[in-house]
Amino acid sequence: MTLTIDEMATFCKKKGFVYPSSELYGGIAGFFDYGPLGADLKENLKRSWWQFHVHEREDIVGIDGSIIAHPKIWQASGHAECFGDVMVECKKCHERLRADVLIEDTLKIQADGLSAEDLQKLIIENKVGCPKCKANDFTDAKAFNLMFTTNVGPIENEESKAYLRAETAQIIFSAFKNVFETSRMKLPFGIAQMGKAFRNEIAPRNFLFRCREFEQMEIEYFIHPDDTNNCPFIEEVMDYSMLVYSSDMQLNKKEPKEMKIKELLENGVIKTQWHGYWLAKEHQWFVSLGANGSKFRIRQHLPDEKSHYALDTWDLEYEFPFGWKELQGMANRTDFDLQQHMKHSKKDLSIFDEGTQKKIVPHVVAEPSQGVDRAFLVFMYDAYEEDKERGNIVLKLSNKLAPIKAIVCPLIKKDLSELSREVYDVLKTEMHVQYDQAGSIGKRYARADEIGIPYGITIDHDSLEKKDVTIRDRDSTEQKRVKISELKDVMKKLISYEIKFEDL
Ligand code: ATP
Repeated sequence: MTLTIDEMATFCKKKGFVYPSSELYGGIAGFFDYGPLGADLKENLKRSWWQFHVHEREDIVGIDGSIIAHPKIWQASGHAECFGDVMVECKKCHERLRADVLIEDTLKIQADGLSAEDLQKLIIENKVGCPKCKANDFTDAKAFNLMFTTNVGPIENEESKAYLRAETAQIIFSAFKNVFETSRMKLPFGIAQMGKAFRNEIAPRNFLFRCREFEQMEIEYFIHPDDTNNCPFIEEVMDYSMLVYSSDMQLNKKEPKEMKIKELLENGVIKTQWHGYWLAKEHQWFVSLGANGSKFRIRQHLPDEKSHYALDTWDLEYEFPFGWKELQGMANRTDFDLQQHMKHSKKDLSIFDEGTQKKIVPHVVAEPSQGVDRAFLVFMYDAYEEDKERGNIVLKLSNKLAPIKAIVCPLIKKDLSELSREVYDVLKTEMHVQYDQAGSIGKRYARADEIGIPYGITIDHDSLEKKDVTIRDRDSTEQKRVKISELKDVMKKLISYEIKFEDL
């Protein structure tokens, strides 16, 4: 059974993963608090992303930029002028809606990127109704800027006006020269960043999917402008296949099709090796952390849908209960951003190319850019299972993501607490473990299953004499005995998948 997004929100709240922010005061739409389990799960997710994209690679370095930056950054990028969505308001119930989302949900066609005029025409021609009260009488469609503003310093005026960053990407572009000059990187190379972004979304909805405060994990990958196609790593992914929904397939009403990167490049469906490489890598990242690869597809933006700066854009999408939705956008931004920042700052952001002995402005042909909160939802959905035999939910999170790696349980309190505490103390220095002696052992295991704890370590009377414990595997419920002296090492290997439970 798949949970609706509201049921998922309820589950997340009940178990302490995510709560609506400021509930005490009636809540505030589009903002969330990650609870004790959610905070750890999110942290593990972000650490895994950083490990995969930064630490395990020689060609990517990371930064942690400021949330408030010089307002000219947002003028140069175009955000201050035109980063917005088109809004309509229902004249009857006053529900405010994003016009493109209203059309996409009602008419099941892509509407992202259409002008206010075109969206309004579609609403009128198709007699699109309000999803809340069903009336079909809307105000004129008008553009709405999503940037949150604030003031820097004690005086509030136009000069002190600043923005909360709407994406992490622009901070990467504006720091490009500093990173290049101090990191000893050579083209091609990437700069990664994770952190908060803020968008004053017209209609935040679908729980964590569309928030007003969220986190992004982004990479801007810089390449030589005369060599925008050759990716030295392409062989790694040539045989990797994914469900593909190209712009042609969408326009010709064809079904998405499973295709290898090799085929996509040979047939010119994907124009550059870099795009193919990063789409495959991002899919691999999700699968490596336990996501169900068959619920993903890559979809090319339609010609009308692309951002003003993009030559070609592909999204990595996931099939949520509320439809196929974007997890990651990957645009070929060319040298648009660096050129814009050169123009507005009047500083030279070109770099010296030793090969051609010329100054060049690097291009970005693929920029894996994704939301942490949307990824969080994916992992929750793919982990959630209702186990009829056990009579409880089992959250089959990857060991790497699970917020708590094991519970340590004395079978009964009497006589066994002391040794159990010793076991807990040994393990807690290595991983996040929980000591649990409340309730029957069955109840404790069920509680652990529901919050995704992969292993249950039980100390029984035999443990006192034999100096061993049982390890219970969440997914199979099987149990194996392990010497206490070896436990820390075994657990470390299990959590990192260096060994499998079956092989113990
Ligand atoms: P959408 O079309 O869904 O509004 P977008 O194309 O504007 O998204 P990008 O600007 O490409 O999004 O941002 C990169 C990523 O940041 C998205 O793929 C998504 O995962 C995440 N993201 C963007 N907006 C939000 C939001 N309001 N809440 C949560 N995550 C978001």
